[in-house]
Amino acid sequence: MSFDSLGLHEALTRALADAGYTTPTPVQTQAVPAALAGLDLMVSANTGSGKTASFVLPALTKVLAARGDGKRRDKGVTYGPRVLVLVPTRELALQVTQAVSNYGRHVQGLRVASIVGGVPYGAQLKALRGPIDMLIATPGRLMDHMASGKAILANVELLVLDEADRMLDMGFIDDIHHIAAALPASRQTLMTSATFGGPVGRMAAELMREPQRIEVASHTEAHADIEQRLHWADDLSHKNALLDHILTERSVEQAVVFTSTQRDADWLADRLAELGHAVASLHGGMPQGRRNRVLEGLRRRHLRVLVATDVAARGIDVPSISHVINYGLPMKAEDYVHRIGRTGRAGRSGLAVTLAERRDVGMIQRIQRFTTQRIPAATIAGLEPQRAEPKPDARPGGFGGRPARPGAGHRPFKPHGRPAGEGGAERRSFDGAPAGPRGPRPFTDGPKARTGKPPMRPRAR
Ligand code: AMP
Repeated sequence: MSFDSLGLHEALTRALADAGYTTPTPVQTQAVPAALAGLDLMVSANTGSGKTASFVLPALTKVLAARGDGKRRDKGVTYGPRVLVLVPTRELALQVTQAVSNYGRHVQGLRVASIVGGVPYGAQLKALRGPIDMLIATPGRLMDHMASGKAILANVELLVLDEADRMLDMGFIDDIHHIAAALPASRQTLMTSATFGGPVGRMAAELMREPQRIEVASHTEAHADIEQRLHWADDLSHKNALLDHILTERSVEQAVVFTSTQRDADWLADRLAELGHAVASLHGGMPQGRRNRVLEGLRRRHLRVLVATDVAARGIDVPSISHVINYGLPMKAEDYVHRIGRTGRAGRSGLAVTLAERRDVGMIQRIQRFTTQRIPAATIAGLEPQRAEPKPDARPGGFGGRPARPGAGHRPFKPHGRPAGEGGAERRSFDGAPAGPRGPRPFTDGPKARTGKPPMRPRAR
């Protein structure tokens, strides 16, 4: 995938080449074409994912389109920006402004203004008097300029709400609604936010038309709301016993159990149904109508357990999913991140349990390298593995890196208010040592990592 194939103007691809960027990031690959097609977008991607460019590039495309050939200015001067970007903080305003200057360096005569609080009004008033292509603003100060009639927003074609969740946390909800009401109803709206649950989701529904949801898993993110555990199984029957035990725990509100194949999904769903679980399978081999009915059953809580394959489970957003269980490992490390992201949604905590056999050790290592996090090993009383745990890999990126949750153990897993530790799972680090009261010992934490010394590795036993 190249930037040319995203349909960007030559002035922009040239700037990207100047910056040394050859390939779009996943969020850019998904968001840029959709934004260029004029869709409203809800984008979940973290800082560091390249999300700024994913809206700045389409924004600059709007500016270029208004210029005709991308070089000439409009014949008649248009007052007020074509693009308005609202951001929560001055720092973010600065970053976005820099990104606009960077990616817009070959857009001739590009006029960008930044309107933020805590600085004198003079320069901002001057900027607002002239023609502007893009305005980057924090909501409070923009409201001041609107109140004094200095900010003209009647020509905005694209509204971007960057880090919308933070703006709501900071109390900007009324300001955002007020500002949005002053814009043409025909405008396009792009929103980025870590989550789209609760108030952010409601705001998105009010400000956008049939928005498309784009979710990009950040693979090195700490997943603060998701506790991860690894159970080693001796063989298939041990793995089934572990699964059966976990599913009978009261803390399981709803669970998604992942299998590697469609056949396994059907087989396992039948087996769990025989055991009396309210369960259904979901995979790409099923007709769409049935898939929709299964998902509806999950949402309405008619189902407690869903047995799914990777493709079918992408994008499932059901906040009551308290557990994700990896019964069959994914083919790609990236899919692990998508899988565990089905739980811990909408501000709730979740537990992601991986059941692995010895032959899965390579995949576990690839996942840990990909996420740069260890998955702490755990056992269930009475179901401990008989065989010794596989030895950790000493290769770089093997089992070093951060633990799955920094400081795991500070905040015990509380599935929606129930006591932690139900089910008797004892937490242990991968090398088999008891995890201690503060959770597994981080291997590359603290000052050592900062002194440039090589990270400590767990000793193989
Ligand atoms: P952001 O997630 O928007 O904060 O961007 C993170 C960093 O990645 C910024 O320093 C960008 O300049 C950089 N960046 C954005 N897009 C790309 C790309 N396609 N390739 C390499 N770096 C990029």
